[in-house]
Parts: sequence; C-alpha cells; structure tokens
Amino acid sequence: MTLIADLSTPELAALRSSVQARYDAFRSQGLKLDMTRGKPAPDQLDLANAMLALPGNGDYFSAAGEDGRNYGNLQGLAETRALFSPILGAPADRVVVGDNSSLALMHDCIVYALLKGVPGSARPWSKEGSPAFICPAPGYDRHFAILEEFGIRMLPVAMTGHGPDMDAVEKLAADPSVKGMWCVPKYSNPTGEIYSDETIARLAALRAAAPDFRLFWDNAYCVHHLTERRNEIPNILEECERAGHPDRAFIFASTSKVTLAGAGVAFFASSAANVRWYLSSASKRSIGPDKLNQLRHVRFLRDVAGVERHMDAHRALIAPKFAAVAEALERHLAGTGAARWTAPEGGYFISVEATAGTAKRVVELAKAAGVALTPAGATWPYGKDPHDSNLRLAPTFPTLAEVRAASEGIALCILLAAIEARAVHRAESA
Ligand code: PMP
Repeated sequence: MTLIADLSTPELAALRSSVQARYDAFRSQGLKLDMTRGKPAPDQLDLANAMLALPGNGDYFSAAGEDGRNYGNLQGLAETRALFSPILGAPADRVVVGDNSSLALMHDCIVYALLKGVPGSARPWSKEGSPAFICPAPGYDRHFAILEEFGIRMLPVAMTGHGPDMDAVEKLAADPSVKGMWCVPKYSNPTGEIYSDETIARLAALRAAAPDFRLFWDNAYCVHHLTERRNEIPNILEECERAGHPDRAFIFASTSKVTLAGAGVAFFASSAANVRWYLSSASKRSIGPDKLNQLRHVRFLRDVAGVERHMDAHRALIAPKFAAVAEALERHLAGTGAARWTAPEGGYFISVEATAGTAKRVVELAKAAGVALTPAGATWPYGKDPHDSNLRLAPTFPTLAEVRAASEGIALCILLAAIEARAVHRAESA
C-alpha cells in the first residue's frame, strides 16, 4: 500500500471508490458485532466453573479456624492474602481482600480522601479548593468517571510507549492541588504499554508539592499476559519506600479477569499506615467481606503456580483474538499511514491511533456496518480526545469468528475515514 498522503487526486478518488465498495459490501452482510468492553468471553468464565462447587459442602473454616460463613475479618483471610501477596508485591499483612470489584475500592479511597484526607493530609482533599489528578491518556474511562463524578479536575498527560510522559508529570506535580495520579503500570488500559523501570523510579521519587500525593496503582492486568513472557515491573511499594515516600502508593487489583468477572475478589495493598487508614473507614462501611469467596479462590487457585496455569489457559483462548485483529489491521492499513496500533503483550485491549480527526467518524461508520465500538473520546478525561484519533478495541468477548469479521470491518472503516479526511484536506487546499 502507498501512503494515502502521497496519492495524486485521481489515485485518491480511485482508492476511495474501491474502499467504499468494500465497506458497502461489508455493511450489506448486516452483521451485529460488539467490540466495546473488555469482558471475558463465556469460554474464559468456563475455565473457573469448578469454583461454582467450592468451597464445597462443609468446607467453610479458614486455616486459622475462622468460620467463613460469619461476619468479621475485614482485612480478609490470611491464606487469601498470602496467596496474592507475591502477585501484588506487598507483605500479606499489608494486603486487604475486598469483595468483587477493585473499582469499588478505588472509588471508596477517593471518597474517603475527599471526606477525611489520607495519612499526611493537612485537611480533607475536598477542602483543598480544587483538587486535581494526573491522568495518563489514553486511559481507563471508569477511572476518569470517578473523578468527574466527584469534581476532581483531570490533567491529561501523554503516554510514551513506556508509561506516562514523566517530564509533564513532574511539572504538574509541582502544584500542591495535584493530589494523585492514575497508573495502570502493566499492560495499560488501553495502550497495553508497560511502565519502564525508569518511569517507575521517577514516579516513586517524584517531588510532589502535595505532601499527601497518592499514586493510584491499578495493577488490574498484573498476571494477564498474552505471550509466553511474563513481564515483571519493579515493586512500587519498595521503590516508594526507598525514595522516602513510603505512603505514596495505593495498589489495587482483582481476580475479575482471572476467575469470574462478577464474582472475583479485589485487593488493596499499601503501607502499614495506609492499610490502617483504609480499614478504619472501611469498618464503618461493612462488617466484613465474603470470606467464602476468599476460601473458594484459595481452594481453586491454590498458589501462584496455580494462578499462572490458569492465566495460561486464558491466554490460549484470547491470544488468537488479538492476533486476528492485528492481522486485519496489518492487511488493510500497513503502509497507508491511516493508523498506528499497539501489539500488546498482555491486558485486554488494542489501542489504535487513527488519522487525526477521524475517530468519531470511524465509530459512526462501524456502527452503520453493525460493529459497536467504544465511543470515540472515551479513553480521555471528560470524553474529549483532543486529536479525535484514539480507538480502543476490546477483542476478548466476541467469538474468534466474530472478532475476525469485526476487525475486517473496523480496518475498512479506519481506511475509509482516513481517505475521506484526506480528500477534504485536498479540496480545502486546492
Ligand atoms: N482497572 C482497570 C484498568 C480495568 O481495565 C478494569 C476492568 N476493565 C478494572 C479496573 C475493573 O476491575 P474490577 O472488576 O476489579 O472492578
């Protein structure tokens, strides 16, 4: 393929009619496909079906003899904390096991911080005038939605391929109203990138003007590899401690995309002071978590090797779907200059940088052809992509055949939108 930008006006017109014809043919199939949200597919959930019979009749005592059926133990069972401690990179006594949603824990931490402050706060964040968060973008729409809900200002910073632009982060953190930052350090949503050692060291050492600055370290995809390589990143708690900021990181994770998305267990891990702070507020909210589910997870996954084996089974199901998307994008778009896209080694998304100014048009074209995509702009704070270029593709939920069909259509939409934009540009500059 030649670069669209290099085509003569008649060549561009010819390409436009041929791509339009391919798009029309795709549309006429009347498909109904959904690539909007990063949900596990039913066959992935089936991998954990044995859990539905666990912990089993009569099995409800923890190793310490607690009755899992009853109230209590807000921090979570010792064996569940011990199992996930190495995965989270925190000693078991600094791990809290919550119920089924890490997003709920993040939400609660924001609310507690706003109402009460965190260790090191001079006052609650809500009394700070206009608290703000650094938001690497493109990023996770639900992170941004929590901040928007509570009126916390969002300050986007670009992603570089190895984490956020740290020069920009360092400048923003010099403002004392900047209280925190979202980080998805491994297989970031949606770019799939892994924060480099240098990025993580700079985040730990960041000279934040706010003494109560927090990294909301959402390691949602810590064990979600798409290749044989199990990429590791530096331990954020240890890095922060070494840099003299022992209370800086709040770690979050869950088994939503390990076991059952609606019935997993979620984790909060941090410094001893932060864990005490969290449990103090959480104890007003709940008498204790679902410990039978915690036992169920221990019985089913057993140990870190068990988690890894289970994630390998997920990988076998979803890696071909990621490959199918990459294959279609490559076949239709390579060399055209219409888009760049990621080749993630883990996580749940492929991020596409389409031609500037065309993402909304791509979503519209895809919708008309029966392919639902995440709304353009969703990966940016306030839903506003300044370049109207980012598309988040979520290939896990549809079947492989559906992913193949949808990717074909999406690639054509990206190409057609790029050609349309070029034709307008050409007409305007003529
Ligand atoms: N964090 C990130 C980065 C995610 O992508 C998701 C799910 N899409 C979540 C958190 C949600 O996690 P949970 O199911 O534990 O609430």
